[in-house]
Amino acid sequence: MTYYSLNHNAPDVSFEEAVVRGLAPDKGLYFPKKIERLSDSFFQNIENLDNVSIAFEVIAPFVGNEIPKNDLKKILKDVLNFDFPLVEIDKNITALELFHGPTMAFKDVGARFMARCLGYFNNKNNNKDNITVLVATSGDTGGAVAHGFLGVKGVDVIILYPSGKVSNIQEKQLTTLGQNITALEVNGVFDDCQAMVKTAFLDQNLKTARTLTSANSINVARWLPQMFYYFFAYKALKHKGKNLVFSVPSGNYGNICAGMMAQKLGLPIHHFVTGTNANSIIPDYLKTGNYKTKTSVSTISNAMDVGDPSNFIRIEELHDHNFDRLKQNLSGYSFNDAETVKAINYLKIHHNYVADPHGAIGYLALKTYLNQNLKVHGVFLETAHPIKFLPVMPKDIVDNMTIPSQIKSILNKEKKSIKISTYQELTDFLIN
Ligand SMILES: *Cc1c(COP(=O)(O)O)cnc(C)c1O
Repeated sequence: MTYYSLNHNAPDVSFEEAVVRGLAPDKGLYFPKKIERLSDSFFQNIENLDNVSIAFEVIAPFVGNEIPKNDLKKILKDVLNFDFPLVEIDKNITALELFHGPTMAFKDVGARFMARCLGYFNNKNNNKDNITVLVATSGDTGGAVAHGFLGVKGVDVIILYPSGKVSNIQEKQLTTLGQNITALEVNGVFDDCQAMVKTAFLDQNLKTARTLTSANSINVARWLPQMFYYFFAYKALKHKGKNLVFSVPSGNYGNICAGMMAQKLGLPIHHFVTGTNANSIIPDYLKTGNYKTKTSVSTISNAMDVGDPSNFIRIEELHDHNFDRLKQNLSGYSFNDAETVKAINYLKIHHNYVADPHGAIGYLALKTYLNQNLKVHGVFLETAHPIKFLPVMPKDIVDNMTIPSQIKSILNKEKKSIKISTYQELTDFLIN
Protein backbone atom coordinates (compact mmCIF):
# COMPACT_ATOMS: atom_id res chain seq x y z
CA MET A 1 0.00 0.00 0.00
CA THR A 2 1.19 3.49 -0.84
CA TYR A 3 0.71 6.39 1.56
CA TYR A 4 0.81 10.11 0.77
CA SER A 5 1.33 13.11 2.99
CA LEU A 6 -1.73 15.21 3.70
CA ASN A 7 0.45 18.29 3.25
CA HIS A 8 1.12 17.11 -0.34
CA ASN A 9 4.73 18.17 -0.24
CA ALA A 10 6.60 14.93 0.41
CA PRO A 11 7.22 11.72 -1.54
CA ASP A 12 4.77 8.83 -1.35
CA VAL A 13 5.94 5.99 0.88
CA SER A 14 5.31 2.32 1.60
CA PHE A 15 3.51 1.08 4.72
CA GLU A 16 6.87 0.27 6.28
CA GLU A 17 8.21 3.74 5.65
CA ALA A 18 5.04 5.37 6.95
CA VAL A 19 5.33 3.32 10.15
CA VAL A 20 9.02 4.03 10.63
CA ARG A 21 8.71 7.74 9.84
CA GLY A 22 5.49 8.44 11.71
CA LEU A 23 5.12 11.91 10.26
CA ALA A 24 6.00 12.87 6.65
CA PRO A 25 9.00 15.21 6.13
CA ASP A 26 6.59 18.04 5.25
CA LYS A 27 4.91 17.56 8.68
CA GLY A 28 1.87 16.01 7.01
CA LEU A 29 0.08 12.94 8.30
CA TYR A 30 0.24 9.87 6.09
CA PHE A 31 -2.94 8.71 4.40
CA PRO A 32 -3.53 5.57 2.30
CA LYS A 33 -3.71 6.14 -1.44
CA LYS A 34 -6.41 3.59 -2.12
CA ILE A 35 -9.33 2.70 0.08
CA GLU A 36 -11.28 -0.23 -1.29
CA ARG A 37 -14.62 -1.51 -0.05
CA LEU A 38 -14.61 -4.98 1.43
CA SER A 39 -16.73 -7.56 -0.38
CA ASP A 40 -20.45 -8.02 0.28
CA SER A 41 -19.78 -11.63 1.22
CA PHE A 42 -17.43 -10.50 3.99
CA PHE A 43 -20.24 -8.52 5.61
CA GLN A 44 -22.78 -11.28 5.00
CA ASN A 45 -20.54 -13.85 6.70
CA ILE A 46 -19.05 -11.75 9.43
CA GLU A 47 -20.88 -13.66 12.21
CA ASN A 48 -18.89 -16.74 11.28
CA LEU A 49 -15.49 -15.07 11.56
CA ASP A 50 -13.42 -14.74 14.72
CA ASN A 51 -11.78 -11.47 15.72
CA VAL A 52 -8.40 -12.30 14.22
CA SER A 53 -9.92 -13.25 10.85
CA ILE A 54 -11.99 -10.06 10.77
CA ALA A 55 -8.96 -7.97 11.68
CA PHE A 56 -6.89 -9.65 8.99
CA GLU A 57 -9.41 -8.91 6.22
CA VAL A 58 -9.68 -5.30 7.40
CA ILE A 59 -5.99 -4.46 7.79
CA ALA A 60 -4.33 -6.61 5.11
CA PRO A 61 -4.99 -4.16 2.22
CA PHE A 62 -3.31 -1.38 4.22
CA VAL A 63 -0.21 -3.46 4.84
CA GLY A 64 -0.06 -4.89 1.33
CA ASN A 65 2.66 -7.45 0.70
CA GLU A 66 5.07 -5.82 3.15
CA ILE A 67 4.33 -8.31 5.89
CA PRO A 68 3.63 -11.87 4.66
CA LYS A 69 0.15 -13.18 5.33
CA ASN A 70 1.15 -15.65 8.01
CA ASP A 71 3.34 -13.17 9.88
CA LEU A 72 0.54 -10.61 9.82
CA LYS A 73 -1.91 -13.19 11.16
CA LYS A 74 0.53 -14.07 13.92
CA ILE A 75 0.89 -10.39 14.85
CA LEU A 76 -2.89 -9.96 14.98
CA LYS A 77 -3.36 -13.08 17.07
CA ASP A 78 -0.89 -11.71 19.56
CA VAL A 79 -2.39 -8.19 19.56
CA LEU A 80 -6.01 -9.32 19.95
CA ASN A 81 -5.61 -11.81 22.79
CA PHE A 82 -8.28 -10.20 24.98
CA ASP A 83 -12.00 -9.51 24.78
CA PHE A 84 -14.03 -6.58 23.45
CA PRO A 85 -17.34 -7.10 25.26
CA LEU A 86 -20.57 -5.34 24.41
CA VAL A 87 -22.68 -4.49 27.43
CA GLU A 88 -26.34 -3.63 26.99
CA ILE A 89 -27.15 -0.46 28.91
CA ASP A 90 -30.63 0.23 27.62
CA LYS A 91 -32.91 -1.03 24.86
CA ASN A 92 -31.21 1.21 22.34
CA ILE A 93 -27.80 1.79 23.93
CA THR A 94 -24.82 -0.56 24.13
CA ALA A 95 -21.39 0.07 25.65
CA LEU A 96 -18.44 -1.30 23.71
CA GLU A 97 -15.73 -2.00 26.27
CA LEU A 98 -12.27 -1.49 24.85
CA PHE A 99 -10.34 -1.66 28.09
CA HIS A 100 -9.63 -5.32 28.65
CA GLY A 101 -6.03 -5.19 27.42
CA PRO A 102 -2.85 -5.00 29.49
CA THR A 103 -3.06 -1.27 30.33
CA MET A 104 -6.86 -1.19 30.41
CA ALA A 105 -7.23 1.49 27.74
CA PHE A 106 -8.32 1.14 24.12
CA LYS A 107 -4.90 2.32 22.97
CA ASP A 108 -3.47 -1.12 23.72
CA VAL A 109 -4.54 -2.48 20.34
CA GLY A 110 -2.89 0.22 18.26
CA ALA A 111 0.23 0.35 20.41
CA ARG A 112 0.69 -3.42 20.35
CA PHE A 113 0.12 -3.61 16.61
CA MET A 114 2.59 -0.83 15.90
CA ALA A 115 5.22 -2.34 18.21
CA ARG A 116 5.00 -5.69 16.47
CA CYS A 117 5.14 -4.16 13.00
CA LEU A 118 8.23 -2.14 13.92
CA GLY A 119 9.77 -5.20 15.52
CA TYR A 120 9.05 -7.18 12.34
CA PHE A 121 10.60 -4.55 10.04
CA ASN A 122 13.60 -4.11 12.31
CA ASN A 123 14.27 -7.82 12.34
CA LYS A 124 13.77 -8.18 8.57
CA ASN A 125 16.22 -5.37 7.84
CA ASN A 126 18.79 -6.61 10.33
CA ASN A 127 19.04 -3.07 11.66
CA LYS A 128 22.12 -2.32 13.70
CA ASP A 129 20.96 1.05 14.96
CA ASN A 130 18.11 1.18 17.40
CA ILE A 131 14.93 3.00 16.44
CA THR A 132 13.79 5.55 19.01
CA VAL A 133 10.06 5.86 19.52
CA LEU A 134 9.23 9.30 20.84
CA VAL A 135 5.74 9.79 22.15
CA ALA A 136 3.75 12.44 23.97
CA THR A 137 0.92 11.33 26.24
CA SER A 138 -2.01 13.05 27.88
CA GLY A 139 -2.51 9.97 30.02
CA ASP A 140 -3.24 6.66 28.37
CA THR A 141 -0.95 6.62 25.34
CA GLY A 142 2.17 6.40 27.48
CA GLY A 143 1.19 3.26 29.32
CA ALA A 144 -0.15 1.50 26.24
CA VAL A 145 2.93 2.33 24.20
CA ALA A 146 5.29 1.44 27.04
CA HIS A 147 3.64 -1.96 27.47
CA GLY A 148 3.29 -2.55 23.75
CA PHE A 149 7.00 -1.97 23.15
CA LEU A 150 8.43 -3.40 26.35
CA GLY A 151 11.27 -5.72 25.46
CA VAL A 152 10.91 -5.23 21.67
CA LYS A 153 14.46 -5.63 20.36
CA GLY A 154 16.09 -2.67 18.62
CA VAL A 155 13.52 -0.14 19.82
CA ASP A 156 14.01 2.47 22.56
CA VAL A 157 10.89 4.20 23.81
CA ILE A 158 10.87 7.71 25.25
CA ILE A 159 7.62 9.00 26.69
CA LEU A 160 6.87 12.64 27.47
CA TYR A 161 4.04 13.29 29.90
CA PRO A 162 2.76 16.45 31.63
CA SER A 163 3.86 16.48 35.26
CA GLY A 164 0.96 16.22 37.71
CA LYS A 165 -1.63 15.95 34.93
CA VAL A 166 -2.01 12.17 34.69
CA SER A 167 -3.54 9.88 37.30
CA ASN A 168 -1.37 7.95 39.74
CA ILE A 169 -2.13 4.64 38.03
CA GLN A 170 -1.43 6.10 34.59
CA GLU A 171 1.87 7.48 35.86
CA LYS A 172 2.83 4.12 37.35
CA GLN A 173 2.03 2.42 34.06
CA LEU A 174 4.53 4.51 32.19
CA THR A 175 7.27 5.09 34.75
CA THR A 176 7.79 1.67 36.33
CA LEU A 177 8.68 -0.65 33.45
CA GLY A 178 12.39 0.03 32.96
CA GLN A 179 14.24 -1.92 30.22
CA ASN A 180 13.88 -0.05 26.92
CA ILE A 181 11.31 2.42 28.29
CA THR A 182 12.20 5.91 29.62
CA ALA A 183 9.68 8.44 30.96
CA LEU A 184 10.34 12.19 30.71
CA GLU A 185 8.22 14.24 33.08
CA VAL A 186 7.54 17.59 31.43
CA ASN A 187 6.83 20.74 33.37
CA GLY A 188 3.82 21.81 31.26
CA VAL A 189 0.58 20.59 29.69
CA PHE A 190 0.02 17.87 27.08
CA ASP A 191 0.22 20.33 24.20
CA ASP A 192 3.74 21.28 25.35
CA CYS A 193 4.72 17.62 25.23
CA GLN A 194 3.18 17.18 21.80
CA ALA A 195 4.84 20.35 20.51
CA MET A 196 8.26 19.12 21.69
CA VAL A 197 7.74 15.79 19.94
CA LYS A 198 6.68 17.49 16.72
CA THR A 199 9.70 19.80 16.84
CA ALA A 200 12.03 16.86 17.49
CA PHE A 201 10.88 15.11 14.33
CA LEU A 202 11.93 18.07 12.23
CA ASP A 203 15.23 18.65 14.01
CA GLN A 204 18.12 17.80 11.66
CA ASN A 205 20.65 17.55 14.51
CA LEU A 206 18.55 14.94 16.19
CA LYS A 207 18.04 13.06 12.96
CA THR A 208 21.74 12.47 12.57
CA ALA A 209 21.99 11.25 16.15
CA ARG A 210 18.96 8.96 16.25
CA THR A 211 16.38 7.27 14.03
CA LEU A 212 13.22 8.75 15.44
CA THR A 213 9.65 7.66 15.00
CA SER A 214 6.39 8.52 16.68
CA ALA A 215 3.91 6.24 18.39
CA ASN A 216 1.20 8.85 18.74
CA SER A 217 -2.07 8.15 17.01
CA ILE A 218 -0.71 9.94 13.96
CA ASN A 219 1.27 6.78 13.18
CA VAL A 220 -0.69 4.72 10.66
CA ALA A 221 0.11 1.49 12.53
CA ARG A 222 -1.55 2.86 15.65
CA TRP A 223 -4.41 4.52 13.90
CA LEU A 224 -5.67 1.89 11.48
CA PRO A 225 -6.07 -1.13 13.83
CA GLN A 226 -8.67 0.89 15.73
CA MET A 227 -10.99 0.09 12.82
CA PHE A 228 -11.37 -3.39 14.29
CA TYR A 229 -13.57 -2.23 17.18
CA TYR A 230 -16.30 -1.04 14.86
CA PHE A 231 -16.33 -4.32 12.93
CA PHE A 232 -16.48 -6.34 16.17
CA ALA A 233 -19.44 -4.26 17.36
CA TYR A 234 -21.19 -4.60 14.01
CA LYS A 235 -20.76 -8.36 14.13
CA ALA A 236 -22.35 -8.51 17.58
CA LEU A 237 -25.22 -6.11 16.85
CA LYS A 238 -26.04 -6.95 13.24
CA HIS A 239 -28.98 -9.16 14.25
CA LYS A 240 -30.79 -6.12 15.66
CA GLY A 241 -31.32 -4.94 12.10
CA LYS A 242 -31.07 -1.30 13.13
CA ASN A 243 -28.96 1.58 11.89
CA LEU A 244 -25.86 1.85 14.06
CA VAL A 245 -24.60 5.11 15.52
CA PHE A 246 -21.21 5.20 17.23
CA SER A 247 -20.43 7.72 19.92
CA VAL A 248 -16.73 8.16 20.55
CA PRO A 249 -15.17 10.16 23.38
CA SER A 250 -12.48 12.05 21.51
CA GLY A 251 -9.25 13.94 22.05
CA ASN A 252 -6.85 13.55 19.18
CA TYR A 253 -9.58 12.04 16.98
CA GLY A 254 -7.66 8.91 16.01
CA ASN A 255 -10.25 6.44 17.26
CA ILE A 256 -13.29 8.05 15.66
CA CYS A 257 -11.35 8.63 12.46
CA ALA A 258 -10.60 4.90 12.32
CA GLY A 259 -14.35 4.32 12.61
CA MET A 260 -14.88 6.57 9.62
CA MET A 261 -12.27 4.58 7.73
CA ALA A 262 -14.19 1.40 8.62
CA GLN A 263 -17.28 3.08 7.19
CA LYS A 264 -15.32 3.81 3.99
CA LEU A 265 -14.54 0.11 3.75
CA GLY A 266 -18.28 -0.47 3.57
CA LEU A 267 -19.14 -1.05 7.23
CA PRO A 268 -22.74 0.16 7.53
CA ILE A 269 -22.43 2.93 10.11
CA HIS A 270 -25.30 5.38 10.00
CA HIS A 271 -23.72 8.27 11.89
CA PHE A 272 -20.91 9.25 14.26
CA VAL A 273 -21.11 11.28 17.43
CA THR A 274 -18.07 12.81 19.10
CA GLY A 275 -18.19 13.62 22.78
CA THR A 276 -15.59 15.96 24.24
CA ASN A 277 -14.83 17.58 27.56
CA ALA A 278 -14.29 21.33 27.83
CA ASN A 279 -11.76 21.01 25.01
CA SER A 280 -14.59 21.39 22.53
CA ILE A 281 -12.70 22.23 19.35
CA ILE A 282 -14.67 19.93 17.04
CA PRO A 283 -18.18 20.40 18.48
CA ASP A 284 -17.54 24.14 18.20
CA TYR A 285 -16.37 23.74 14.62
CA LEU A 286 -19.48 21.73 13.70
CA LYS A 287 -21.61 24.47 15.21
CA THR A 288 -19.88 27.51 13.73
CA GLY A 289 -17.97 26.28 10.68
CA ASN A 290 -15.00 28.08 12.13
CA TYR A 291 -12.01 25.87 13.00
CA LYS A 292 -10.21 27.26 16.03
CA THR A 293 -7.57 25.42 18.01
CA LYS A 294 -7.01 26.40 21.63
CA THR A 295 -4.61 25.77 24.46
CA SER A 296 -5.90 22.66 26.18
CA VAL A 297 -7.52 22.93 29.59
CA SER A 298 -7.30 20.25 32.28
CA THR A 299 -10.37 18.14 32.95
CA ILE A 300 -11.22 14.91 34.76
CA SER A 301 -11.22 13.09 31.41
CA ASN A 302 -7.57 13.96 30.93
CA ALA A 303 -6.83 11.62 28.03
CA MET A 304 -8.97 13.98 25.96
CA ASP A 305 -7.38 17.24 27.06
CA VAL A 306 -6.33 18.15 23.56
CA GLY A 307 -6.56 21.64 22.11
CA ASP A 308 -5.30 20.86 18.63
CA PRO A 309 -6.53 17.42 17.54
CA SER A 310 -3.88 15.87 15.27
CA ASN A 311 -6.08 13.45 13.38
CA PHE A 312 -8.82 15.84 12.41
CA ILE A 313 -7.12 16.51 9.08
CA ARG A 314 -7.65 12.83 8.23
CA ILE A 315 -11.34 13.17 8.99
CA GLU A 316 -11.51 16.12 6.62
CA GLU A 317 -9.75 14.10 3.95
CA LEU A 318 -12.28 11.28 4.38
CA HIS A 319 -15.07 13.81 3.79
CA ASP A 320 -13.38 15.48 0.81
CA HIS A 321 -12.84 18.63 2.92
CA ASN A 322 -16.54 19.27 2.49
CA PHE A 323 -18.09 20.78 5.61
CA ASP A 324 -21.68 19.81 4.75
CA ARG A 325 -20.73 16.22 4.07
CA LEU A 326 -18.91 16.10 7.41
CA LYS A 327 -21.88 17.53 9.26
CA GLN A 328 -24.11 14.85 7.77
CA ASN A 329 -21.87 12.13 9.16
CA LEU A 330 -20.76 13.64 12.48
CA SER A 331 -22.44 15.34 15.41
CA GLY A 332 -20.53 16.69 18.36
CA TYR A 333 -21.32 17.70 21.92
CA SER A 334 -19.14 18.81 24.80
CA PHE A 335 -19.65 18.35 28.53
CA ASN A 336 -18.04 19.85 31.60
CA ASP A 337 -16.67 17.92 34.57
CA ALA A 338 -19.81 18.32 36.68
CA GLU A 339 -21.97 16.87 33.90
CA THR A 340 -19.49 14.02 33.52
CA VAL A 341 -19.65 13.07 37.21
CA LYS A 342 -23.43 13.31 37.09
CA ALA A 343 -23.49 10.87 34.18
CA ILE A 344 -21.19 8.43 36.02
CA ASN A 345 -23.62 8.46 38.97
CA TYR A 346 -26.65 8.19 36.70
CA LEU A 347 -25.25 5.15 34.89
CA LYS A 348 -24.48 3.45 38.19
CA ILE A 349 -27.85 4.18 39.78
CA HIS A 350 -30.12 3.55 36.79
CA HIS A 351 -28.18 0.94 34.82
CA ASN A 352 -25.82 -0.54 37.40
CA TYR A 353 -22.95 0.31 35.07
CA VAL A 354 -19.67 1.85 36.18
CA ALA A 355 -18.28 4.10 33.47
CA ASP A 356 -15.02 6.02 33.52
CA PRO A 357 -15.11 9.78 32.80
CA HIS A 358 -14.29 9.29 29.09
CA GLY A 359 -16.93 6.62 28.56
CA ALA A 360 -19.42 8.76 30.47
CA ILE A 361 -18.86 11.57 27.97
CA GLY A 362 -19.42 9.11 25.14
CA TYR A 363 -22.67 8.12 26.82
CA LEU A 364 -23.79 11.73 27.31
CA ALA A 365 -23.05 12.61 23.71
CA LEU A 366 -24.96 9.56 22.50
CA LYS A 367 -27.97 10.39 24.70
CA THR A 368 -28.02 13.91 23.33
CA TYR A 369 -28.00 12.62 19.78
CA LEU A 370 -30.64 9.94 20.46
CA ASN A 371 -33.00 12.58 21.86
CA GLN A 372 -33.54 13.75 18.31
CA ASN A 373 -32.90 10.49 16.48
CA LEU A 374 -35.11 7.73 17.73
CA LYS A 375 -34.93 4.80 15.38
CA VAL A 376 -31.25 3.94 15.61
CA HIS A 377 -29.16 1.79 17.91
CA GLY A 378 -26.39 3.65 19.71
CA VAL A 379 -23.02 2.28 20.74
CA PHE A 380 -20.75 4.33 22.97
CA LEU A 381 -17.10 3.39 23.26
CA GLU A 382 -15.95 2.83 26.82
CA THR A 383 -12.29 3.65 26.29
CA ALA A 384 -10.70 3.01 29.69
CA HIS A 385 -11.31 1.08 32.89
CA PRO A 386 -12.72 3.40 35.60
CA ILE A 387 -10.03 2.25 38.03
CA LYS A 388 -7.52 4.33 36.08
CA PHE A 389 -9.32 7.48 37.17
CA LEU A 390 -9.83 6.75 40.85
CA PRO A 391 -9.20 10.27 42.16
CA VAL A 392 -12.01 11.76 40.09
CA MET A 393 -14.57 8.97 40.41
CA PRO A 394 -17.45 9.35 42.91
CA LYS A 395 -16.27 7.88 46.20
CA ASP A 396 -19.15 5.49 46.87
CA ILE A 397 -18.64 3.93 43.44
CA VAL A 398 -14.90 3.59 43.96
CA ASP A 399 -15.34 1.93 47.35
CA ASN A 400 -17.12 -0.98 45.73
CA MET A 401 -14.66 -1.50 42.91
CA THR A 402 -12.15 -4.34 42.81
CA ILE A 403 -8.71 -3.59 41.48
CA PRO A 404 -7.96 -5.62 38.33
CA SER A 405 -4.81 -7.75 38.33
CA GLN A 406 -3.19 -5.65 35.57
CA ILE A 407 -3.27 -2.65 37.92
CA LYS A 408 -2.51 -4.40 41.20
CA SER A 409 0.83 -5.59 39.95
CA ILE A 410 2.21 -2.08 39.34
CA LEU A 411 0.93 -0.16 42.34
CA ASN A 412 3.92 -0.85 44.56
CA LYS A 413 6.54 -0.39 41.89
CA GLU A 414 8.85 2.57 42.07
CA LYS A 415 8.33 5.53 39.72
CA LYS A 416 11.34 6.45 37.63
CA SER A 417 11.22 9.63 35.54
CA ILE A 418 13.52 12.37 34.32
CA LYS A 419 12.19 15.91 34.73
CA ILE A 420 12.52 18.37 31.86
CA SER A 421 11.12 21.83 31.16
CA THR A 422 12.47 22.87 27.78
CA TYR A 423 13.03 21.52 24.30
CA GLN A 424 16.76 22.01 24.81
CA GLU A 425 16.66 19.56 27.72
CA LEU A 426 14.90 17.04 25.50
CA THR A 427 17.55 17.28 22.78
CA ASP A 428 20.35 17.11 25.33
CA PHE A 429 18.84 13.92 26.63
CA LEU A 430 18.36 12.41 23.18
CA ILE A 431 21.81 13.26 21.88
CA ASN A 432 23.79 12.21 24.93
C1 LIG B 1 -6.78 8.53 24.11
C2 LIG B 1 -8.07 8.40 24.79
C3 LIG B 1 -9.25 8.95 24.26
C4 LIG B 1 -9.24 9.80 23.01
O1 LIG B 1 -8.97 9.07 21.86
P1 LIG B 1 -8.51 9.83 20.52
O2 LIG B 1 -8.25 8.75 19.55
O3 LIG B 1 -7.28 10.60 20.87
O4 LIG B 1 -9.62 10.72 20.14
C5 LIG B 1 -10.44 8.73 24.92
N1 LIG B 1 -10.48 8.01 26.06
C6 LIG B 1 -9.37 7.46 26.59
C7 LIG B 1 -9.49 6.71 27.87
C8 LIG B 1 -8.15 7.62 25.98
O5 LIG B 1 -7.06 7.09 26.52
